[in-house]
Amino acid sequence: ELGSNVVLVPGKLHPHAVTRLKGEFDLVTIDRSDSSLVDAVLAAKVRGLAVSTRIDAAFIDAFPALEIIASFGVGYDAVDAGHAAKRGVVVTNTPDVLTEEVADTTIGLLLNTVREFAKAENYLRAGRWVKDGNYPLTEMTLRGRTVGIFGLGRIGRAIARRIEAFGLPVSYHNRNRVDDVPYAYHPSLVELAAAVDTLICVAPGGAATEKAVNAQVLEALGPDGVLINVGRGTTVDEPALAKALKDRTIRAAGLDVFADEPNVPEDLLELDNATLLPHVGSASIHTREAMADLVVDNLISWFSNDKALTPVPETAGITRARR
Ligand code: NDP
Repeated sequence: ELGSNVVLVPGKLHPHAVTRLKGEFDLVTIDRSDSSLVDAVLAAKVRGLAVSTRIDAAFIDAFPALEIIASFGVGYDAVDAGHAAKRGVVVTNTPDVLTEEVADTTIGLLLNTVREFAKAENYLRAGRWVKDGNYPLTEMTLRGRTVGIFGLGRIGRAIARRIEAFGLPVSYHNRNRVDDVPYAYHPSLVELAAAVDTLICVAPGGAATEKAVNAQVLEALGPDGVLINVGRGTTVDEPALAKALKDRTIRAAGLDVFADEPNVPEDLLELDNATLLPHVGSASIHTREAMADLVVDNLISWFSNDKALTPVPETAGITRARR
């Protein structure tokens, strides 16, 4: 028998979140975010969604009493927040709790891309240190590089602090200039790419950044260029990147995110100058548990204090009392 506080989990969600939600709400789970899996009785009762999957307008509209969508992760390009806002439904994400972890991962990926640590370890494990002698000196180094950050937000700033500590100059591109940083601002991405040899992309996904890192940007980055992408795969034109890596328009790329995860384009898999990670930016037990807690805490705060903790900007004005 369902009470008045029904929260629905469509698809997979972090088990720590599920356990806590069971203690707080009447929790219902379905296999995926498909409204044909929900009968009318349940649909009428759902007031909250806790999600780690794509939520489109049609799914939102399947729940007339829906008040809040608590999404796992800081990037929420998979949730139609614009439609939720129109319906008066608040969307929350999990900012801040993953910022330092993702910045750490980004530095690891950058170093690994230029200094080839994964390849060097494979060399050792294959017995080649004994058989063939020292691993070849790397053609690339971090020394002397100039770093541009596309998306100087929470994570971008944490990356920039680390890059500063490595002794490298930082500049950035956002739509808006950031007032309280010492880094040079470039009003366009192609200008940023032309000014640096190392471009770190940590901008959000979605229509506004779709394929923003295109052939022209890669050309501007140049033959010493290294592209690191930890933002969203959709932000990079992947075929253009594969071509630029193949013909050495740029030197190398390190990617944690892809346009069609978990599928990675064959063109990229074949390339020796691409370092590829399976979207592990925030993927430690510690940080994923903190993200799971923030999903649950947003729902608890909404239903007990009428206020979400971390609403996304599109739905920031929505409060429970005003409904
Ligand atoms: P923030 O919102 O704090 O920062 C985003 C930055 O991008 C802002 O500075 C914003 O500035 C800029 N930006 C947004 N849209 C555009 C645009 N169209 N053109 C140029 N700049 C733009 O987010 P976070 O730093 O917390 O997270 C950033 C992204 O990182 C997430 O959205 C997610 O996609 C990704 N991420 C990836 C992870 C991984 O595992 N690989 C883990 C966590 C996050 P302005 O508004 O002025 O343009």
